[in-house]
Amino acid sequence: MIPAAPAPQHAPVPLAPSAPRWQQLWREAMREPRELLALLGLDALAEGLAVSDAAAMQFPLRVPRGFVARMRHGDPHDPLLRQVLPLDAEMQPMPGFSLDAVGDGAAKAGHGVIRKYRGRALLVSTGSCAIHCRYCFRRHFPYAEETAAASGWREAVEIIRGDAGIDEVILSGGDPWSLATPKLAELTDALATIPHLKRLRVHTRLPVVLPERVDDALVDWLGSLPWPVTVVLHANHANEFDATVDAALARLRATGALLLNQAVLLRGVNDSVDALAALSERGHAAGVLPYYLHQLDRVQGAAHFEVPDEIALALHRALAARLSGYLVPRLVREVAGDPGKRPLPYA
Ligand SMILES: *Cc1c(COP(=O)(O)O)cnc(C)c1O
Ligand code: SF4
Repeated sequence: MIPAAPAPQHAPVPLAPSAPRWQQLWREAMREPRELLALLGLDALAEGLAVSDAAAMQFPLRVPRGFVARMRHGDPHDPLLRQVLPLDAEMQPMPGFSLDAVGDGAAKAGHGVIRKYRGRALLVSTGSCAIHCRYCFRRHFPYAEETAAASGWREAVEIIRGDAGIDEVILSGGDPWSLATPKLAELTDALATIPHLKRLRVHTRLPVVLPERVDDALVDWLGSLPWPVTVVLHANHANEFDATVDAALARLRATGALLLNQAVLLRGVNDSVDALAALSERGHAAGVLPYYLHQLDRVQGAAHFEVPDEIALALHRALAARLSGYLVPRLVREVAGDPGKRPLPYA
Protein backbone atom coordinates (compact mmCIF):
# COMPACT_ATOMS: atom_id res chain seq x y z
CA MET A 1 0.00 0.00 0.00
CA ILE A 2 1.04 3.57 -0.54
CA PRO A 3 1.41 5.67 2.61
CA ALA A 4 -1.27 8.35 2.91
CA ALA A 5 1.35 10.98 3.68
CA PRO A 6 5.04 11.17 2.86
CA ALA A 7 7.22 9.44 5.43
CA PRO A 8 8.89 12.01 7.69
CA GLN A 9 12.27 13.01 6.33
CA HIS A 10 15.10 14.96 7.85
CA ALA A 11 15.09 18.44 6.40
CA PRO A 12 18.06 18.72 4.03
CA VAL A 13 20.82 21.06 5.13
CA PRO A 14 20.65 24.09 2.80
CA LEU A 15 23.19 24.08 0.00
CA ALA A 16 25.74 26.87 -0.30
CA PRO A 17 24.79 29.24 -3.14
CA SER A 18 27.98 28.16 -4.94
CA ALA A 19 27.05 24.44 -4.85
CA PRO A 20 27.15 22.76 -8.26
CA ARG A 21 23.86 22.44 -10.11
CA TRP A 22 23.93 18.65 -9.99
CA GLN A 23 23.76 18.77 -6.21
CA GLN A 24 20.59 20.84 -6.44
CA LEU A 25 19.07 18.34 -8.89
CA TRP A 26 20.13 15.56 -6.55
CA ARG A 27 18.22 17.23 -3.69
CA GLU A 28 15.16 17.52 -5.89
CA ALA A 29 15.08 13.79 -6.68
CA MET A 30 11.68 12.20 -6.31
CA ARG A 31 11.20 10.34 -3.01
CA GLU A 32 7.49 9.73 -2.84
CA PRO A 33 5.91 6.74 -4.67
CA ARG A 34 2.55 8.52 -4.81
CA GLU A 35 4.04 11.54 -6.55
CA LEU A 36 5.92 9.36 -9.03
CA LEU A 37 2.80 7.43 -10.02
CA ALA A 38 0.72 10.61 -10.29
CA LEU A 39 3.31 12.21 -12.54
CA LEU A 40 3.20 9.16 -14.83
CA GLY A 41 -0.59 9.19 -14.89
CA LEU A 42 -0.78 5.86 -13.06
CA ASP A 43 -3.25 4.72 -10.45
CA ALA A 44 -1.63 1.99 -8.35
CA LEU A 45 -4.89 0.20 -7.61
CA ALA A 46 -6.28 0.33 -11.13
CA GLU A 47 -2.98 -0.85 -12.60
CA GLY A 48 -2.56 -3.66 -10.07
CA LEU A 49 0.73 -2.19 -8.87
CA ALA A 50 1.36 -3.56 -5.37
CA VAL A 51 3.33 -0.55 -4.19
CA SER A 52 4.75 -1.12 -0.71
CA ASP A 53 5.45 1.40 2.01
CA ALA A 54 7.23 -1.31 4.03
CA ALA A 55 9.68 -1.79 1.14
CA ALA A 56 10.04 1.99 0.84
CA MET A 57 10.84 2.15 4.57
CA GLN A 58 13.57 -0.47 4.18
CA PHE A 59 15.10 1.16 1.09
CA PRO A 60 13.47 4.47 0.18
CA LEU A 61 12.37 5.42 -3.29
CA ARG A 62 14.81 7.81 -4.85
CA VAL A 63 14.94 8.80 -8.51
CA PRO A 64 16.16 11.98 -10.24
CA ARG A 65 13.45 13.85 -12.13
CA GLY A 66 15.38 13.73 -15.39
CA PHE A 67 15.30 9.92 -15.21
CA VAL A 68 11.56 9.99 -14.49
CA ALA A 69 11.14 12.07 -17.65
CA ARG A 70 12.48 9.09 -19.63
CA MET A 71 9.72 6.80 -18.35
CA ARG A 72 6.69 6.19 -20.58
CA HIS A 73 3.57 7.98 -19.42
CA GLY A 74 0.73 5.67 -18.40
CA ASP A 75 2.75 2.43 -18.64
CA PRO A 76 2.83 0.42 -15.38
CA HIS A 77 5.34 -1.95 -17.01
CA ASP A 78 7.78 0.77 -18.01
CA PRO A 79 11.28 -0.75 -17.68
CA LEU A 80 12.70 2.32 -15.93
CA LEU A 81 9.80 2.57 -13.49
CA ARG A 82 10.16 -1.13 -12.62
CA GLN A 83 13.75 -0.54 -11.51
CA VAL A 84 12.81 2.03 -8.86
CA LEU A 85 9.27 1.38 -7.64
CA PRO A 86 9.06 -0.27 -4.16
CA LEU A 87 6.74 -3.28 -4.45
CA ASP A 88 5.17 -5.77 -2.01
CA ALA A 89 7.12 -8.57 -3.70
CA GLU A 90 10.30 -7.23 -2.07
CA MET A 91 8.98 -8.04 1.39
CA GLN A 92 8.31 -11.73 0.73
CA PRO A 93 11.13 -13.74 2.30
CA MET A 94 12.67 -16.10 -0.24
CA PRO A 95 14.94 -19.02 0.63
CA GLY A 96 18.40 -18.60 -0.89
CA PHE A 97 18.18 -14.80 -0.93
CA SER A 98 20.39 -13.28 1.76
CA LEU A 99 21.68 -10.00 3.16
CA ASP A 100 25.31 -10.36 1.97
CA ALA A 101 24.73 -12.19 -1.29
CA VAL A 102 28.18 -11.64 -2.74
CA GLY A 103 30.35 -12.28 0.31
CA ASP A 104 31.67 -8.73 0.58
CA GLY A 105 31.68 -9.00 4.36
CA ALA A 106 34.32 -11.73 4.18
CA ALA A 107 36.55 -9.90 1.67
CA LYS A 108 36.94 -6.71 3.68
CA ALA A 109 40.53 -5.50 3.93
CA GLY A 110 39.71 -2.36 5.91
CA HIS A 111 36.95 0.20 6.26
CA GLY A 112 35.44 0.49 2.80
CA VAL A 113 38.17 -1.57 1.10
CA ILE A 114 37.21 -4.86 -0.56
CA ARG A 115 40.10 -6.96 -1.75
CA LYS A 116 38.53 -9.88 -3.54
CA TYR A 117 40.26 -10.25 -6.91
CA ARG A 118 43.91 -10.36 -7.82
CA GLY A 119 45.46 -6.96 -8.52
CA ARG A 120 42.32 -4.98 -7.75
CA ALA A 121 41.18 -3.10 -4.68
CA LEU A 122 37.58 -1.95 -4.67
CA LEU A 123 36.76 1.11 -2.58
CA VAL A 124 33.27 1.46 -1.20
CA SER A 125 33.70 5.20 -1.54
CA THR A 126 30.35 6.28 -0.19
CA GLY A 127 26.95 4.80 0.55
CA SER A 128 25.00 7.38 -1.44
CA CYS A 129 23.37 6.90 -4.81
CA ALA A 130 21.30 9.36 -6.83
CA ILE A 131 18.88 6.55 -7.63
CA HIS A 132 17.79 3.58 -5.57
CA CYS A 133 17.64 0.45 -7.72
CA ARG A 134 15.36 -2.09 -6.12
CA TYR A 135 17.53 -5.07 -7.12
CA CYS A 136 20.70 -3.59 -5.67
CA PHE A 137 22.94 -6.06 -3.86
CA ARG A 138 24.12 -3.28 -1.58
CA ARG A 139 20.67 -2.43 -0.26
CA HIS A 140 21.60 -4.05 3.06
CA PHE A 141 25.27 -3.06 3.17
CA PRO A 142 26.29 -1.40 6.47
CA TYR A 143 27.51 1.79 4.83
CA ALA A 144 27.68 4.05 7.84
CA GLU A 145 30.88 2.47 9.23
CA GLU A 146 32.16 1.07 6.02
CA THR A 147 32.90 3.84 3.54
CA ALA A 148 36.44 4.61 2.48
CA ALA A 149 35.80 8.36 2.30
CA ALA A 150 34.59 8.57 5.90
CA SER A 151 38.13 8.62 7.36
CA GLY A 152 39.43 11.08 4.75
CA TRP A 153 40.55 8.06 2.66
CA ARG A 154 43.54 7.50 4.96
CA GLU A 155 42.99 3.85 5.77
CA ALA A 156 42.22 2.94 2.16
CA VAL A 157 45.27 4.77 0.84
CA GLU A 158 47.56 3.09 3.38
CA ILE A 159 46.22 -0.38 2.53
CA ILE A 160 46.85 0.24 -1.17
CA ARG A 161 50.26 1.77 -0.54
CA GLY A 162 51.26 -1.23 1.55
CA ASP A 163 50.38 -3.84 -1.07
CA ALA A 164 52.44 -3.73 -4.26
CA GLY A 165 50.18 -6.46 -5.68
CA ILE A 166 47.43 -3.88 -6.21
CA ASP A 167 47.74 -2.24 -9.61
CA GLU A 168 44.15 -1.10 -10.11
CA VAL A 169 41.89 0.87 -7.82
CA ILE A 170 38.16 0.66 -8.44
CA LEU A 171 35.99 3.42 -7.06
CA SER A 172 32.64 1.89 -6.34
CA GLY A 173 29.93 2.44 -3.77
CA GLY A 174 27.20 3.41 -3.54
CA ASP A 175 28.07 5.77 -6.33
CA PRO A 176 31.56 7.31 -6.08
CA TRP A 177 30.51 10.30 -8.20
CA SER A 178 27.96 11.22 -5.57
CA LEU A 179 30.98 12.64 -3.72
CA ALA A 180 31.90 16.24 -4.46
CA THR A 181 34.72 16.56 -6.98
CA PRO A 182 37.23 18.06 -4.45
CA LYS A 183 36.67 14.98 -2.27
CA LEU A 184 37.52 12.74 -5.23
CA ALA A 185 40.60 14.84 -5.95
CA GLU A 186 41.71 14.38 -2.33
CA LEU A 187 41.79 10.62 -2.94
CA THR A 188 43.45 10.67 -6.34
CA ASP A 189 46.10 13.15 -5.12
CA ALA A 190 47.00 10.66 -2.40
CA LEU A 191 46.88 7.68 -4.79
CA ALA A 192 49.13 9.50 -7.27
CA THR A 193 52.01 9.11 -4.80
CA ILE A 194 51.78 5.29 -5.00
CA PRO A 195 54.15 4.02 -7.70
CA HIS A 196 52.62 0.55 -8.22
CA LEU A 197 49.19 1.82 -9.33
CA LYS A 198 48.67 1.47 -13.09
CA ARG A 199 44.94 1.92 -13.62
CA LEU A 200 41.96 3.69 -12.15
CA ARG A 201 38.42 2.51 -12.63
CA VAL A 202 35.14 4.14 -11.65
CA HIS A 203 31.88 2.20 -11.32
CA THR A 204 29.10 4.77 -11.59
CA ARG A 205 25.47 5.05 -12.60
CA LEU A 206 25.40 8.84 -12.27
CA PRO A 207 26.20 9.83 -15.89
CA VAL A 208 23.13 7.81 -16.89
CA VAL A 209 20.69 8.76 -14.13
CA LEU A 210 21.85 12.34 -13.43
CA PRO A 211 23.97 13.35 -16.45
CA GLU A 212 24.35 16.89 -15.07
CA ARG A 213 26.91 15.34 -12.69
CA VAL A 214 29.35 15.38 -15.61
CA ASP A 215 30.16 19.06 -15.16
CA ASP A 216 33.30 21.14 -15.85
CA ALA A 217 34.87 20.29 -12.50
CA LEU A 218 34.42 16.53 -12.95
CA VAL A 219 35.74 16.57 -16.50
CA ASP A 220 38.77 18.66 -15.49
CA TRP A 221 39.55 16.27 -12.64
CA LEU A 222 39.16 13.20 -14.83
CA GLY A 223 41.35 14.65 -17.57
CA SER A 224 44.10 15.46 -15.06
CA LEU A 225 44.57 11.94 -13.64
CA PRO A 226 47.95 10.28 -14.15
CA TRP A 227 46.55 6.80 -15.06
CA PRO A 228 44.46 5.38 -17.90
CA VAL A 229 40.87 5.63 -16.65
CA THR A 230 38.00 3.25 -17.30
CA VAL A 231 34.47 4.35 -16.45
CA VAL A 232 32.10 1.42 -16.07
CA LEU A 233 28.57 2.78 -16.40
CA HIS A 234 25.39 1.03 -15.42
CA ALA A 235 22.36 1.13 -17.70
CA ASN A 236 19.90 -1.73 -18.03
CA HIS A 237 17.66 -0.51 -20.82
CA ALA A 238 18.06 1.54 -24.01
CA ASN A 239 15.42 4.00 -22.78
CA GLU A 240 17.82 5.15 -20.07
CA PHE A 241 19.77 7.02 -22.76
CA ASP A 242 18.66 10.39 -24.07
CA ALA A 243 20.32 13.51 -25.50
CA THR A 244 21.47 14.72 -22.06
CA VAL A 245 23.13 11.36 -21.38
CA ASP A 246 24.74 11.37 -24.84
CA ALA A 247 26.21 14.81 -24.14
CA ALA A 248 27.56 13.72 -20.74
CA LEU A 249 29.14 10.59 -22.22
CA ALA A 250 30.72 12.60 -25.06
CA ARG A 251 32.37 14.81 -22.44
CA LEU A 252 33.67 11.77 -20.56
CA ARG A 253 35.07 10.26 -23.75
CA ALA A 254 36.78 13.54 -24.59
CA THR A 255 38.91 13.09 -21.43
CA GLY A 256 40.29 9.89 -22.97
CA ALA A 257 38.41 7.62 -20.57
CA LEU A 258 37.30 4.21 -21.83
CA LEU A 259 33.54 3.80 -21.38
CA LEU A 260 32.02 0.40 -20.64
CA ASN A 261 28.59 -0.63 -19.40
CA GLN A 262 27.44 -3.24 -16.97
CA ALA A 263 23.82 -4.26 -16.81
CA VAL A 264 21.88 -6.62 -14.61
CA LEU A 265 19.54 -9.11 -16.27
CA LEU A 266 16.16 -8.22 -14.76
CA ARG A 267 12.81 -9.90 -15.25
CA GLY A 268 10.29 -7.42 -16.53
CA VAL A 269 12.99 -4.89 -17.45
CA ASN A 270 15.39 -6.29 -20.05
CA ASP A 271 14.76 -10.05 -20.27
CA SER A 272 14.26 -10.19 -24.03
CA VAL A 273 16.66 -10.38 -26.97
CA ASP A 274 15.18 -7.18 -28.40
CA ALA A 275 15.72 -5.24 -25.17
CA LEU A 276 19.29 -6.50 -24.73
CA ALA A 277 20.21 -5.87 -28.36
CA ALA A 278 18.74 -2.36 -28.18
CA LEU A 279 20.73 -1.68 -25.00
CA SER A 280 24.02 -2.68 -26.65
CA GLU A 281 23.27 -0.72 -29.82
CA ARG A 282 22.08 2.40 -28.03
CA GLY A 283 25.10 2.34 -25.74
CA HIS A 284 27.42 1.96 -28.71
CA ALA A 285 25.82 4.95 -30.38
CA ALA A 286 26.81 6.90 -27.25
CA GLY A 287 30.37 5.54 -27.28
CA VAL A 288 29.92 2.79 -24.69
CA LEU A 289 30.77 -0.89 -25.11
CA PRO A 290 28.99 -3.58 -23.13
CA TYR A 291 31.13 -5.25 -20.45
CA TYR A 292 29.08 -7.46 -18.15
CA LEU A 293 25.53 -8.72 -18.11
CA HIS A 294 25.12 -9.85 -14.51
CA GLN A 295 22.90 -12.58 -13.28
CA LEU A 296 21.10 -11.09 -10.30
CA ASP A 297 22.83 -11.28 -6.95
CA ARG A 298 20.52 -13.24 -4.69
CA VAL A 299 19.81 -10.47 -2.25
CA GLN A 300 16.72 -10.36 -0.06
CA GLY A 301 13.99 -8.32 -1.72
CA ALA A 302 15.11 -8.86 -5.31
CA ALA A 303 13.81 -12.38 -6.01
CA HIS A 304 11.03 -11.18 -8.32
CA PHE A 305 13.68 -9.81 -10.72
CA GLU A 306 15.48 -13.14 -11.13
CA VAL A 307 15.78 -14.74 -14.57
CA PRO A 308 16.54 -18.50 -14.49
CA ASP A 309 19.97 -19.51 -15.80
CA GLU A 310 18.57 -21.52 -18.74
CA ILE A 311 16.64 -18.49 -19.96
CA ALA A 312 19.61 -16.18 -19.38
CA LEU A 313 21.79 -18.49 -21.46
CA ALA A 314 19.24 -18.74 -24.26
CA LEU A 315 18.97 -14.94 -24.37
CA HIS A 316 22.73 -14.62 -24.42
CA ARG A 317 23.11 -17.13 -27.27
CA ALA A 318 20.44 -15.32 -29.28
CA LEU A 319 22.19 -12.02 -28.65
CA ALA A 320 25.51 -13.43 -29.86
CA ALA A 321 23.77 -14.68 -33.01
CA ARG A 322 22.39 -11.23 -33.72
CA LEU A 323 25.07 -8.67 -32.82
CA SER A 324 28.67 -7.84 -33.63
CA GLY A 325 30.93 -9.66 -31.21
CA TYR A 326 31.95 -6.48 -29.41
CA LEU A 327 28.32 -5.67 -28.66
CA VAL A 328 27.80 -8.91 -26.72
CA PRO A 329 28.38 -8.52 -22.95
CA ARG A 330 29.84 -11.32 -20.85
CA LEU A 331 27.10 -13.13 -18.97
CA VAL A 332 28.39 -13.64 -15.44
CA ARG A 333 27.44 -14.30 -11.87
CA GLU A 334 29.29 -13.27 -8.77
CA VAL A 335 30.02 -16.27 -6.58
CA ALA A 336 31.45 -15.74 -3.08
CA GLY A 337 35.02 -17.07 -2.91
CA ASP A 338 35.61 -17.16 -6.69
CA PRO A 339 38.72 -15.44 -8.11
CA GLY A 340 36.60 -13.38 -10.54
CA LYS A 341 33.11 -13.07 -11.96
CA ARG A 342 31.98 -16.54 -12.98
CA PRO A 343 30.92 -16.89 -16.64
CA LEU A 344 27.79 -18.83 -17.54
CA PRO A 345 27.52 -21.65 -18.48
CA TYR A 346 29.33 -23.02 -15.48
CA ALA A 347 32.21 -25.36 -16.12
C1 LIG B 1 33.37 -7.02 -9.64
C2 LIG B 1 34.42 -6.72 -8.68
C3 LIG B 1 35.68 -6.29 -9.12
C4 LIG B 1 36.01 -6.09 -10.58
O1 LIG B 1 35.96 -7.26 -11.32
P1 LIG B 1 36.29 -7.21 -12.88
O2 LIG B 1 36.00 -8.58 -13.36
O3 LIG B 1 37.73 -6.82 -13.02
O4 LIG B 1 35.39 -6.17 -13.46
C5 LIG B 1 36.67 -6.06 -8.18
N1 LIG B 1 36.45 -6.22 -6.87
C6 LIG B 1 35.24 -6.60 -6.40
C7 LIG B 1 35.05 -6.78 -4.94
C8 LIG B 1 34.18 -6.86 -7.29
O5 LIG B 1 33.01 -7.23 -6.81
S1 SF4 C 1 23.23 2.99 -8.51
FE1 SF4 C 1 24.28 1.02 -8.27
S2 SF4 C 1 24.89 0.94 -6.11
FE2 SF4 C 1 23.33 2.56 -6.31
S3 SF4 C 1 21.37 1.56 -5.87
FE3 SF4 C 1 21.66 1.46 -8.09
S4 SF4 C 1 22.67 -0.52 -8.45
FE4 SF4 C 1 22.89 -0.03 -6.27
